[in-house]
Amino acid sequence: MKIVLEHLTKQFPARGRKSRESVTAVDNFNFEIPDGQLIGLLGPSGCGKSTTLNMICGLEKPTDGRILFGEEDVTNLPPENRGVGMVFQNYALYPHLTVKQNILFPLQNLKGKDKLSKDEMDRRVQNAAQLVQITELMDRRPSELSGGQQQRVAIARALVKMPRVLLLDEPLSNLDARLRLQTREEIRKIQHATKITTVFVTHDQEEAMSISDMIVVMKSGVVQQIGRPQDVYDSPVNLFVARFLGTPPINVFEGEIRGQKLYIGENAILDAPGISDQQVFAGIRPEGFVLDKNGPLCCQLGGVEVMGRDISVVSSHAASQAPVIRSIISSESSIDLSSKTIRFAVKPNKIFLFGRETEER
Ligand code: ADP
Repeated sequence: MKIVLEHLTKQFPARGRKSRESVTAVDNFNFEIPDGQLIGLLGPSGCGKSTTLNMICGLEKPTDGRILFGEEDVTNLPPENRGVGMVFQNYALYPHLTVKQNILFPLQNLKGKDKLSKDEMDRRVQNAAQLVQITELMDRRPSELSGGQQQRVAIARALVKMPRVLLLDEPLSNLDARLRLQTREEIRKIQHATKITTVFVTHDQEEAMSISDMIVVMKSGVVQQIGRPQDVYDSPVNLFVARFLGTPPINVFEGEIRGQKLYIGENAILDAPGISDQQVFAGIRPEGFVLDKNGPLCCQLGGVEVMGRDISVVSSHAASQAPVIRSIISSESSIDLSSKTIRFAVKPNKIFLFGRETEER
């Protein structure tokens, strides 16, 4: 089921007495989510992710714009008539019901022509439980389960109605790091198996990048960029997106274009054909630095951190916005730690230039 968002906009009235201005939580969001894909909705807290999800599921009504599932306009349908499955951060299981009863619950409430026979309900519950691998936990209550198991029950409960669309709002936030990794792999597998069009909200860029077919990066209610994770990482449209994706984060320098070359400090770092003379921000990914004793970028050496296969070199430079520059290089490289400086060349495909006027710092 494809999902079409057309000029989707949500304004909330001003809260409190001081402010009279309304909040534009989502501003003219346009996107056609292809059938069967998993989309990661990504951005810092307050950027409008949950509001977008709540409009898709019907918990919030848009101020403007439309939502279509396939060709059907669902903008004014109540949540229960949209055929969506929703999973929240806090699982929201019924504590007094067993796992089996929790999963069964949405089916018992079906009315009229949607009503199912007892056999069909049992079959669906069993299928959903198998999909998320909790068949051996069916008689337990939520308090007898780990966080990861509870979240799997919540996913089974969302899947049991065989929804047209699956919506997940920060589903991994309450899990510890190991379970988070494991559960995100499971969500990916379940999505592959069911091919349900899925929207996954997270503020964690690594999480979104690792499981999404496409990511949508939002800031202050406005979509910044939509694309395949690797494409967005490799071609960020602005400094905000460049900074938001990647661990360690991108290193940002104040630079200048002169005579079609990029200067950081005194030295020309790389050719910048076709770009007019101007002040720029130059973002260099940590993996974009190459150790080169004749390299044009000369930094003050701070130290090194061994990270298994790679080394993280910590250095600094007067033109860097952050106090430290982090570069990742192969652990086979030898670094003279007694030296005060370290020189790098830069991989052209790992450096991004952004105009100063249009970009915030
Ligand atoms: P996110 O999920 O990315 O953290 P939200 O969608 O929850 O962001 O919120 C987007 C913006 O809308 C924020 O500025 C938030 O304060 C505001 N907002 C969300 N819900 C309401 C509401 N019910 N009333 C007023 N403002 C709201």
